[in-house]
Formats: sequence, structure tokens, C-alpha cells
Amino acid sequence: MDNVIEFNEFTVSSSCANGEACCWLCQKGTSLRALFCQYCGTIQPVRPLDHFARLGLERRIDVDSDLLERQYAAYRRALEPERFVLRGMGERGHAAKQQEAIEEAYQTLRAPLRRGRYWLALHEKEMEQADGTNPMIAELRRDLEGAEQAAQCDRIAQKAGNAMEQGIVSLMQALRSQNWTLANAILFEVDGLESILKDVRDRRTVLAPYTGACADDLASVK
Ligand SMILES: [Zn+2]
Repeated sequence: MDNVIEFNEFTVSSSCANGEACCWLCQKGTSLRALFCQYCGTIQPVRPLDHFARLGLERRIDVDSDLLERQYAAYRRALEPERFVLRGMGERGHAAKQQEAIEEAYQTLRAPLRRGRYWLALHEKEMEQADGTNPMIAELRRDLEGAEQAAQCDRIAQKAGNAMEQGIVSLMQALRSQNWTLANAILFEVDGLESILKDVRDRRTVLAPYTGACADDLASVK
């Protein structure tokens, strides 16, 4: 074998002849998914895996959340920094990078919206920037621009929140049935709702001190 052993912590070791990966230390063949080399027990570098494979889960849009939690906890335990205290720099570096990769995979898969976005990307259907003419979003925007009272903001927030919940359910259905065009459109709508919810919160903060003392209330007192 004329494989060059590289000790750069970011290096994904050269492939073995069998198309799988090689242990960066002993150079024996190992699975892409293996955290540790089956021959020498050394922690392996982060390999190019999708988030499902990284956490040892089946690639499905509906994630079994109990299983996800269990897998995440197991990987975290295996990668606890204390386990690598007496190891060399290379191994500590790989363990830290693995920990980061596991964390990213977990955070992505546990939240339906993030998972949906990732699922689309995984299927190479990147979100197309639609032209921003979703009528519901446009209406909520207009309402928000005209909102001068906290109560109006609360109504807009409630509408947007409900639409967002419904949007996430529809998104999951569209992804399950592999309707990528619809999924993209829903994702675009959900993004719009998310930004409205944020703006409503900002607006609400400004309006809050005047609650109960707005023009209508004063008029009714007179
Ligand atoms: Zn090895």
C-alpha cells in the first residue's frame, strides 16, 4: 500500500481499495459509519455522511423521536471529552469534530421544519426563491403595517402562528408524497410566516407600554 498517512485532523483518510474508508492510524479498512476503528479502536475522522446515517437512523422524513433521542445520547456518551483526555491531539481533535457533527445532525433532525428543509436539500431540490406574492403573507404584512394596537398585533400573531402550524403539517405531507414543487411553495410560505412572527414580536414590544391607554380606550372613557 502506498497510502500516505496524513495527521491533519480535518483529513478524511484516503479510501481503501474496497471503496469504504481506511482507519487514519492503522490504515485498515473500516466502515464509513464507524466512529471507532474495529481493528485498533481509534476514533475516526468525520466522514461525509448524511445526518440520518450519522446518527444511525433510517433515512425517513418521519423520524422516531424516541429513537433519535436514544441514538443522540449514545453517541454523546461515546464521545464524551473525558474519554479522550489521555489520548493524543489527533484523537482529541477527531472526537471534538465528531461531537460537532453529531450535534448538527441531531439539531437538524429533531425540528420538523429544519428536517423538512434538509430533506429537500438532500433530494437536491433546493428552495427556489419564489416571487413573494403569497396572498396570505401579503395580507398579514399589510395588517401588520397598519397595526397600531397591541391587540391587533396579537391577532396577527395568532393567525400567523396557526398558519405556520398548518404549514408544517402540509410540508411533511408534501415531502412524504415527494411533491417537491408543493414542498418548496409551502417552505416559502412558512419562511414568510416566520419573518412576520418575528416582526410582530418586535412591534408588540414597542406597543406594549401603551396597552390599555390607546386612542379607542380613551375615546370610550370620554
Ligand atoms: Zn485502526
